Amino acid sequence: MASLPATNGKNVIAPHTVILGAGASIAMTRLNAEKFGKELPSMDNLVEKVGLAPLLDKNGIDYYGKNFESLFSEIKEDLSKEEIAQQIEKQIYDYFANMEISDELTIYDYLVMSLSNNDAIATFNWDPFLIQALARCSRFTHNLPRVIHLHGNTGLGVCYDDSVVGHINALCSTCKNPFEPTKLLYPIGKKDYTSDPLIKNEWEILKAYIEESFYITIFGYSAPVSDIEAKTLLLEVWEKNASKGLAQIEIVDIKSKEDLYETWQDFIVRDHYYVSNNIFDSYLFRYPRRSCAAFFEMVGMLRPKKPNPFPKLMTVEELYHWAKPLIDEEESGVKYSFNVLKGETK
Ligand SMILES: [Zn+2]
Repeated sequence: MASLPATNGKNVIAPHTVILGAGASIAMTRLNAEKFGKELPSMDNLVEKVGLAPLLDKNGIDYYGKNFESLFSEIKEDLSKEEIAQQIEKQIYDYFANMEISDELTIYDYLVMSLSNNDAIATFNWDPFLIQALARCSRFTHNLPRVIHLHGNTGLGVCYDDSVVGHINALCSTCKNPFEPTKLLYPIGKKDYTSDPLIKNEWEILKAYIEESFYITIFGYSAPVSDIEAKTLLLEVWEKNASKGLAQIEIVDIKSKEDLYETWQDFIVRDHYYVSNNIFDSYLFRYPRRSCAAFFEMVGMLRPKKPNPFPKLMTVEELYHWAKPLIDEEESGVKYSFNVLKGETK
């Protein structure tokens, strides 16, 4: 089992885990367009956006009006179409690999800076925006969350010999060779999370975090309805979480509260959930880097804390300077006092 980061003994706080789906990257690119104006495809327009039509036409594959996941499942099941499947995979990989995060400050930068190295962000997305945000935030601090890629990622590289992963353009820290691209888990009805050693390991890491988490934020991810394998893996480990009776699940999504409750009801304990349609209204962004501690103060100690929301900032550097007092407090080893929160009294 993957191990969690050691605490410094003073701030023994359970982790906050964030799970991102397609809706998170869509929300990000609505506010800050991709650097070259490229758009994120959905399963309904992927053929058109990625430019797969000529390849499909040439091979006599009827795609009109079909959802890409069902179309690709059919192609994968037909062994005579193996070569076409590989060409499709390569074209999808290249489309996503050439996307680049906006130069402006994005939701993903705030997201990365909202958590400490005690926490984790797991993403189902292939786009490299999260790892690019992590790379630019880590120019200022390494006290940032672990990033986990559940479907592989075009921004992530791997050295299978040394079991090391990192930014696709970096070198393996052990053998100093360039990384290989990671495999992507392409959309088929029944997902296989155990065959590829990298994807299997990423899931093991996520499971270790979920088992310990005191706060879970699910942002733009609604797949438990269709992705039974993911739901089973997540639910099995959530059931083992010893503090689940007090812990909170937060869902950030534009869907209705009723729909979201229905999607996530197997995970929700009593009324321990919160729904918001804007990440800036989330608990995570109202208590950056202190979400679990503040939530514990509220439910465990009956001492609600004043929020300390992110202000509107312009650059990653400004974002870092805003977060710096919180980071300094974490690194000092002093138990969180909350006195670094603006307007807060102890
Ligand atoms: Zn290596």
